[in-house]
Amino acid sequence: MRSEKVRAVVLSSFPLGEADRILRLFTRELGRVDAVAKGVRKTTSRWGGRLEPFNVCDLVLYPGRSLYTVTQAQLVDVFLRLREDREALTAAAVVCEAAAGLAPEREPEERIFALLRNALKELDAGLRGPAVRAPLVLGALLKLLYEAGYMPVLDHCVGCGEGARAIGFSAERGGLVCAGCLQDDVPITPEAVAALREALARPLAELRAEEPSAAAEEALRDVHNLYGYHTGARLRSLRFARAAG
Ligand SMILES: [Zn+2]
Repeated sequence: MRSEKVRAVVLSSFPLGEADRILRLFTRELGRVDAVAKGVRKTTSRWGGRLEPFNVCDLVLYPGRSLYTVTQAQLVDVFLRLREDREALTAAAVVCEAAAGLAPEREPEERIFALLRNALKELDAGLRGPAVRAPLVLGALLKLLYEAGYMPVLDHCVGCGEGARAIGFSAERGGLVCAGCLQDDVPITPEAVAALREALARPLAELRAEEPSAAAEEALRDVHNLYGYHTGARLRSLRFARAAG
């Protein structure tokens, strides 16, 4: 068995036994994998704070039967503000959970990895307003869906293919629908249509500067429905954000 050198975002971690932790990782080279970090909970641990959630690390992973074992770890990025700002932390959790849900295990995912790292960097630079209303969070989630191959149709009606005004969003049919094609789809406001188009077209650094808005919140609900349709799961971190907000 050969060790793997990877660059990884630590998505989350949970305790295993007395001293170890299981790390859920998103790697550039292997996509989503889990790895055990031994002795990480001892005060004398050589890992220090390197393997905390949202950190980007260069790791050496030794393959085991079901889990990798971390044998080396070097810190690449640490996003300190994500730990201090509750909304930025929530947003980071949403983005990490979505990346984990969208990527298959043990397949290289360079583009999703790059997007995830960039999203964490932008969130760390300062998130404006509640996470659920932030154009940056909407943009990160929509771009993740795009990279995973689940881009919604936003430039015409997904039912008839015509360019009539969109009045609904269909997660099932994968995009905007016009009045003639509306079934039991979620109604959508023109502002939310605009927010979706902006979220796709503009880079995350620009979306970060945008004011939080009701339109972004509405659009985020549609994108979340689309995520749910394709993955069969809901984002738990987003549910908590709503309950808290
Ligand atoms: Zn139509």
